[in-house]
Amino acid sequence: MRVVLVSDIHSNAVALAAVLAALPTYDELWCLGDTIGYGPEPNICLQQMQKLAKYALTGNHDLASLGLVSLADFNALARTANQWNNKQLEPELRAFLQALPARLPLPPEVTLAHASPRDPIWEYILDAQTAKANLQHFDTPVCFVGHTHVPTIFARHEDGKIEFQRGKPGQMLQLKPGSRYIVNPGSVGQPRDGDPRAAYAVWDTKAGTIRFNRVEYDVAATQQKMRAAGLPDMLAERLAFGR
Ligand code: ZN
Repeated sequence: MRVVLVSDIHSNAVALAAVLAALPTYDELWCLGDTIGYGPEPNICLQQMQKLAKYALTGNHDLASLGLVSLADFNALARTANQWNNKQLEPELRAFLQALPARLPLPPEVTLAHASPRDPIWEYILDAQTAKANLQHFDTPVCFVGHTHVPTIFARHEDGKIEFQRGKPGQMLQLKPGSRYIVNPGSVGQPRDGDPRAAYAVWDTKAGTIRFNRVEYDVAATQQKMRAAGLPDMLAERLAFGR
C-alpha cells in the first residue's frame, strides 16, 4: 500500500492544491494535523481533508482555532490568525475538525501523532534525545508526527545505534526490520527548514520505504490572500523564506 503523508497545511489551500496535483498514484492519504491556523483558506483545506484523508489528526493550531485550548499559549501573530480562522469555519467543517484525535495508534505497524506520541499536542521533536524518550510511548515500529514543520527521520536500530537527520528532498529512506522510527514528512503550508516548497512524504508499506518530496507552489498567491484577509504580514512574509 502507498500512503501519502501530509501535515501542517495551515489553511494554505494553494500549497495543498500543488501537492495534490503532484501526487503519484496512492492508496490512502493520512493527515497529521494543523490543517488550519496561520493561513487564509481554512474551509477549503478542511473540505479536502474530509474528502481525501482516510485518517486525520487534530493539532495545537486546530484546537486553538476551535477555542478548545487557550490562545495564551500562542504568540500574538499566531493568536490573531487562530481567531481569524475560527470566525471563518463553516459549522459542518468545525464539527469534522472537532471530532479528530491528536494521536491514533494503527497497530501493528504504525502510530500517528500530531506533535509526539508522548504529548500529541505540544511537544516538539527537534533532537535525538527527545525522539528517543518518545520510543516508550508507542508500540509500533513506525510513528509519524508533524508539528515542527521540518522533515526529519529519527531511527533507533537493533544494535542500539541512533540516527537523527533531516529528510532531504527526493530522499528515499529504506526502513530496516528491527529498527524503530519517528518520521516527520514536513509541512505543506508553512515549511520551516529554509525551503519554501510544500513538503509531503510517501510511505510504501510493501517496499518498506519512505520518500520525502517537495513541490513548488505559488507563494505570492497565498500571500496575497493573507493580506486581503487582513492576516499579520509577518505570517505572509515568512512563507517566502520557508522559516
Ligand atoms: Zn503546525
